[in-house]
Amino acid sequence: MDCYWINQTDATFPELRRVAGRVALIPLGSIESHGPHLPLGCDPIKTDNLVRHILRREPVAVLPTIPYTFVAAARALAGAVHIRSELLIDFVENICDELHRNGFDKIILLQGHGGNTALHTMFCNRMHEREKPYIVYSLSAQADQWSKMIEMTESKECGHACEWETSMAMLACPGLVRMDLLGDRTFPARKEPDTRPALTAADWIGKYPDMAVGKPQLASREKGEKFLEMVVTAVVDCIRRIKKDKETAKVLKEYVRRAHSVHEDFEGLGKVGPGRGTKKKKRKSGR
Ligand SMILES: [Zn+2]
Repeated sequence: MDCYWINQTDATFPELRRVAGRVALIPLGSIESHGPHLPLGCDPIKTDNLVRHILRREPVAVLPTIPYTFVAAARALAGAVHIRSELLIDFVENICDELHRNGFDKIILLQGHGGNTALHTMFCNRMHEREKPYIVYSLSAQADQWSKMIEMTESKECGHACEWETSMAMLACPGLVRMDLLGDRTFPARKEPDTRPALTAADWIGKYPDMAVGKPQLASREKGEKFLEMVVTAVVDCIRRIKKDKETAKVLKEYVRRAHSVHEDFEGLGKVGPGRGTKKKKRKSGR
């Protein structure tokens, strides 16, 4: 079945919800510099290609890709469209609430832009603090395959608009990859500032002021095909596990119950383990 949300009618929509197992997926990209040779929309374009391959193996309700996200690091270069983190988080939360209102209780954020820290930990934390009646799964479009993919590259350095990403773009948008504009320019990391282990906002932009990494000239379609297959397999496996996942809902429900009854647990202080928090009923009935 066609699993794209916006291609449904109100008559076909319930079937999509059923086929997708009430799991929706929001792809996220970015609009930012990807070196002199890759398009500004490299992330949403690559993510759309990934989603097309995922849908050949596993149905999930796919929302339109959100291209505008958090790209603060790229604003020193032409073409970036940055969305302030608080606005972005509000916007995506609003979309998730609407998906839940439409009967979806598991929502996957497919993060096609590595710099979207606002939507990784901060967003999941907000869902947690607001005790949402649905679950958000934040999944990198690299699906934990990064270290394996790096072993397959020839460049010493990878990370952005690099050998790896250029190979992926050669599959997703071959007509937009401009190796002629790259020439023999390479992008070794700068060493300063180095304040490790402390993090600062200057870490990434200090290392890679051109938003490109390593030696993209080593990219090829063949490498892109291998990387894509690894990622598609890993993402599909993750979606299948998310569909079966019952434990996360249990854990969150139990957390909310305990968080709201913690004051009634004071009498249980000193006792350790799951016994605490179960006294509520007894105490009430004893009064
Ligand atoms: Zn990118």
